[in-house]
Amino acid sequence: MSKYTGPDCRQCRREGAKLFLKGDRCYSAKCALVKRSSVPGQHGVSRKKITDYGQQLREKQKTKRIYGLGEKQFHNYYLKAEKMRGVTGTNMLVLLERRLDNVVYRLGLGTSRAQARQIVNHGLITVNGKKVNIPSYLVSVGDIIAVKENKQEKMNFKELKSAKPTPTLKWLTFDNAKLSGTITALPEREDIDPTIAEHMIVELYSK
Ligand code: SF4
Repeated sequence: MSKYTGPDCRQCRREGAKLFLKGDRCYSAKCALVKRSSVPGQHGVSRKKITDYGQQLREKQKTKRIYGLGEKQFHNYYLKAEKMRGVTGTNMLVLLERRLDNVVYRLGLGTSRAQARQIVNHGLITVNGKKVNIPSYLVSVGDIIAVKENKQEKMNFKELKSAKPTPTLKWLTFDNAKLSGTITALPEREDIDPTIAEHMIVELYSK
């Protein structure tokens, strides 16, 4: 299945949940899910009771959409997580959280994961002082993620520099003045979106 390229808000309506794909708009009254929560389609199809398989499929689609990944790329995280020690579902979510585009988003350098991915793709981010333009790059404990010095004057970063300290998660710290964040620990399950039922994704993939 190729990556979805249609309207972002349609994905939220399909999943019946806010996936926070459009930055500030998601927190405003303009959110399409607030205005209209029906399933997209002609005349707004009603939400029917779905089977266990259907629920597992929807959970996988929802999570894949949150992180903005295609099917193959998402499945590869499951395969990698399965080979690791510990709980496969948690491992998978931790791997997803460790993606550089997600970390840039979590640090507040992008208002959505899609914007954060663009920032990484455009070569604006360094990891430990070296430019990294690969959104799927996995960060490790101790890594320092920063905006390239010669790009810090760009409008959106400039505002962030003089803003109040950006609230971050407990596994990250962020220095607004330096536009630089540090990975102080690996994320734990409690640091990750509690609405994701990862056991359903594991059940689906392990069939
Ligand atoms: Fe989803 Fe954000 Fe669109 Fe709301 S505004 S429907 S949360 S992408």
